[in-house]
Amino acid sequence: RGKTEARGSFRFFEPEMDARLQARRLLERDLREALTREAFEVYYQPIYSLDTDRVCGFEALLRWNHPVRGFISPAEFIPIAEELGLIVPLGEWVLRRACEVAAHWPDGLKVAVNVSAVQFTSASLVTAVREALRRTGLPGRRLELEITESVLVANPGSTTAILHSLKALGVRVAMDDFGTGYSSLSYLRSFPFDKIKIDQSFVRDLCIKDGTDFIVRAVIGLGASLGMTTTAEGVETEAQLAQLRAEGCDEVQGYLFSRPVPVSEVADVIRRWNGNSRAIA
Ligand code: C2E
Ligand code: MG
Ligand code: MG
Ligand code: MG
Repeated sequence: RGKTEARGSFRFFEPEMDARLQARRLLERDLREALTREAFEVYYQPIYSLDTDRVCGFEALLRWNHPVRGFISPAEFIPIAEELGLIVPLGEWVLRRACEVAAHWPDGLKVAVNVSAVQFTSASLVTAVREALRRTGLPGRRLELEITESVLVANPGSTTAILHSLKALGVRVAMDDFGTGYSSLSYLRSFPFDKIKIDQSFVRDLCIKDGTDFIVRAVIGLGASLGMTTTAEGVETEAQLAQLRAEGCDEVQGYLFSRPVPVSEVADVIRRWNGNSRAIA
């Protein structure tokens, strides 16, 4: 208030800022309520192996169907859930749901679950993962957790211990959005990742922007020499796919194969890419 009075120029922005604050408060209220009503749904996007030319798993992606606004992107509400301290229960719900669903898939298929920085360092993550596996019967090797570099920046000390506890459960860990954060290279060396997910911003620029091909080639080479799988995200065109295949990328994911789909459509996606699969409910 005081600032508004002292500096006239601030007044100009005031109504808009009030509106944004208002919208934000409403979203916070709705988010709390949504959690109690379980108004969330998990969608699944296939991950396609270029080694076997088959779908080898799915990434679980959270969806919030808001009563008024329709589907709201997780990129918008996850940061709010983190701030409000709701990400731990929400993240654990996704984890349980994804394991429950994946336990019914054929044995070769994995499920990848995103874990936010706050959730990663919460005391309950390892217990939550162990419990989710135990209760659903999903073998640990079929679960993959995706974390971003922000996790490592926030808490490099405890990260190693947590990663090792997860790996003791047989769970695999992937570094998500690789190339968008800081110090990626030292992190790759220091932490026991199984997979690098090349960020979609690089894939988008493949065959378009000079130099991108070399970066992608270098990341795939890096992954291979560190014994990690590389997955390219956001593959939308045949040209991108051909380039990634030529460079020896292990796995691809993107709209070219399928958008994220509700659980009821997972069997169709598998059938479309892997041929008949009656094994699925
Ligand atoms: P992410 O983990 O990097 O997921 C990939 C995002 O790219 C997803 O967006 C997916 O729908 C989108 N995508 C996939 N293929 C393509 C493509 O070909 N083109 C384009 N343009 N986009 C593609 P989504 O579902 O909106 O999720 C956004 C982010 O929200 C995720 O990025 C992840 O960081 C976060 N997120 C989603 N679900 C969860 C969750 O359950 N827990 C946590 N902590 N974060 C989540
Ligand atoms: Mg991800
Ligand atoms: Mg990503
Ligand atoms: Mg390979």
